[in-house]
Amino acid sequence: MIRHMAVAAFLGLLSLPALADDCSVTVEANDQMQFDTDAIEISQSCDEFTVNLEHTGSMPVESMGHNWVLTHKDDMSGVAGDGAGAGLDNDHVEPGDDRVIAHTELIGGGESTSVTFAVDQLEEGEDYTFFCSFPGHSGPMQGSVSLVD
Ligand code: ZN
Repeated sequence: MIRHMAVAAFLGLLSLPALADDCSVTVEANDQMQFDTDAIEISQSCDEFTVNLEHTGSMPVESMGHNWVLTHKDDMSGVAGDGAGAGLDNDHVEPGDDRVIAHTELIGGGESTSVTFAVDQLEEGEDYTFFCSFPGHSGPMQGSVSLVD
């Protein structure tokens, strides 16, 4: 009986991190101007979703800065263009740009950061894009984000 209860408690503990993992993702970025994923699916069951960004390279933020910016697919080029002009001090995101659904700060090699946003900002069937808004990076560094069951 005691042994049975111990197993139940163990399984109960295991289920907690599994659920949390469903509402977050870790994305790596490197010195070769690459993300390690090109598609992120977010479950509608999540109230909030967290993106953990890890820069696995070693180059400084001034020359190989990376962030993770989420917009509607159609807004990407405009947000990237304005972000290029916004400068390093603004993480290359135009302050107050309401086309930006969520974004992390800009980081250099060896650093990591994260952003958490409300999932109810996303609509099923809409096309969303994530990208790095450092000047010149959004071409190779982009992927899709979609809302799933
Ligand atoms: Zn970048």
